[in-house]
Order: sequence, then C-alpha cells, then structure tokens
Amino acid sequence: MSITVDDTTQATFEFEPYRSLDDRTLTERIQAVRKRMGRRLLILGHHYQRDEVIGLADLRGDSYKLSALAAENGDCRAIAFCGVHFMAETADILANRPRRVAERGGERVTVILPDMAAGCSMADMADLDQVEDCWEQLSEVIDTEDLMPVTYVNSAASLKAFCGRRGGIVCTSSNARSVLEWAFARRRRVLFFPDQHLGRNTALDMGIRLDAMPVWNPHADWLGGNTPEAIRQSRVILWQGHCSVHQVFRPEHVQRFRQQYPGIKILVHPECMMEVVAQADVKGSTAAIIKAVEQAPPGTRWAIGTELHLVNRLKQEHPEQEIHFLSPVVCMCATMYRIDLAHLCWALENLAAGTPVGVIRVDDQTAHYALEALQRMLEVK
Ligand code: SF4
Repeated sequence: MSITVDDTTQATFEFEPYRSLDDRTLTERIQAVRKRMGRRLLILGHHYQRDEVIGLADLRGDSYKLSALAAENGDCRAIAFCGVHFMAETADILANRPRRVAERGGERVTVILPDMAAGCSMADMADLDQVEDCWEQLSEVIDTEDLMPVTYVNSAASLKAFCGRRGGIVCTSSNARSVLEWAFARRRRVLFFPDQHLGRNTALDMGIRLDAMPVWNPHADWLGGNTPEAIRQSRVILWQGHCSVHQVFRPEHVQRFRQQYPGIKILVHPECMMEVVAQADVKGSTAAIIKAVEQAPPGTRWAIGTELHLVNRLKQEHPEQEIHFLSPVVCMCATMYRIDLAHLCWALENLAAGTPVGVIRVDDQTAHYALEALQRMLEVK
C-alpha cells in the first residue's frame, strides 16, 4: 500500500518569491483566487491554525467536524486543507469516496496541503510496519479475533486501512468513549493507537483499571516490553504515542493556578496525561473546549490546557471571561504553524492555474479500507 503524493515539479509558480510578499498582498491574492473559483474551492481551517490563515477559511473546526464537512460538501472540486497531513488524507478519502465521485460524473476533488511538511508528530509515532508487527506478536499470546483495532483520527491513512480491514474503527477526541463502547460491544479487547493518553483517559472514564491497560512500546524487542500475562489480562492495549503539544501540561501547572486563583476552572484536552486530566474541572475535545467557554457566564476564570493558538483566539473572542494558558511554556503545534499565508497563496495560485501543488491523494486500496473504518466513526456519535 502506498500514499500517492503528486510532486511540485510542474508548478506554474515557484514558492520562493512568495516569501517576500507582505500579508496584505498575500491576503488580497488569496481572496482573488477564492473569488475566481467560487464554490468550487473550499478552504478548511483547523482551530490550531494561526489567525491570519483561519481568517481566510470557509469553514473552521476540529478533525471530526472538518472530516464530516468534507464528507458532506457537494459543490466543491478542490479543498485546501489548512491543517496537517493526516487531515488532508482523511478529506481526500471522504470527499472522493466512490459514491461521491460517481455523483460528480467521475470527477475527483483535488485535496491540497499548502505545505507538505505539515505533519503530525503523534501520527508519526505509529507506522504500518510497527502496527502489523504488534498485531502479529499479539496473535502469539491472545486471540486477535477478539481484539478490536481502534485508531485515533490523528494517524496515517494506512493505519485507518489497517483497522478497516479487521473490522476496526477510527475515533476522534469527541467520540472516543462511544467508539470504545462500540468496540467492547463486539470484542473483548482493544488495541488503541497512536495516542496513549486519549486511550487511557477514555478507558479510565469507563471504569477500566489501569493494570488492564499495558503500554505497547513499538521499539521493544518483544510484546512491546510487556509480559504475556500482562497482555492476557489486558482490556485496552495502549500504543506508546503522544502529542508533543499536550504533553507539556503538567499536574504542577494545575496546582499553581489553583493556588494563585482559588475557584479557577481548569479545562483540558484528553490528549493531556491522566494526572492532568484527573485534576481538571472539565475535559473534552477541541469542540467541547470551545463550547464550554462559549456557554460560561461572564467573569468565569479559566486555565486551558490545549494548543496555544486556540487558547489565544478564545481569549480574543471572549473578553468577558478571564482566560489563561495552562502551561508557563509556549506550546503550539509547530507543524500546523508551517501553513502560512505565503504557502496558502502559492498553493492556491498554482491550483487556479491548473497545476496544483501539495496534492494529497490516498491510493485506492488504502482509501477503500480506511473508508470502512471512517464510516464506522461517522456513524458512532
Ligand atoms: S497538536 Fe499534536 S496531535 Fe494535533 S496535529 Fe499537532 S502534533 Fe498532531
């Protein structure tokens, strides 16, 4: 299986000259492409994007919402995904599923990632070879017919396809609990990758004990560093992956805010470690974090543990509330930050010229099986 990515050698416009353009010029030129392409172009912006990029997005959201929007949109013929690589892959799979392509008379939606270096460090912590090797080792100790593979949406298309082939499913931070319930209704155990924290926090909420959640180290020689007994006793096997952004929030940051501001509400994403999540007042997906702030009464004081751009945007959009960033250390999604106005303008002008760059196209076989796992995800609310 492979992921096909068109190269940029045929680009009409080289990137270098775009670097020296100021934001105003770039914005005007991006708007000109939007006007010219109209409803045929959809710019999607993830909440962690910089402000100047998110301001140009037709739709903004988290992975779940953007995936669903890409699945439903009937008008667009091109998607510029201002997010990271796995999100653009998901958009390609959903927007170009066979039924949709047939409805468009065979026409595909071109999905572009304005900077191909915008990856996700968490997604990179699990690759197909490692997961296949894990599955094979597990089959020597437990019955893998009774093991459900569940991948967080923050993963390569090849891993979604791995799940799809085995009756497995994709989850998001919004529906992780429903997905685990779905999985346990069908099988006795779950292999959850690549984010150990989302898996652990969700399983703990469901009453699963920590000692039934061994962590699989993909670099260990045998059984991910676990004993056969620990694997046999397991309910959820957690892949040893994490988000480098959410990993920086520590329990001592929560304690410091509580001491300094009695009554403050701590609001965190479930990609944070369990010691942080356990002390939070509210935990939830990006969408849930935004909703919690939107619905809080004026004067509410928050310390929020999620990506910096989103927290800063919440601060700007909710001046009636007092919002702090939970960590003393700046932590933003550095890869998502690579999508800037220069890359967006360059990608859109090449798209409009008929020579798209940064095209993300998942090969048909991978897309077929990944779609099975994604469709299950979209059905589990
Ligand atoms: S915030 Fe973390 S999980 Fe999300 S895209 Fe960035 S590195 Fe990946």
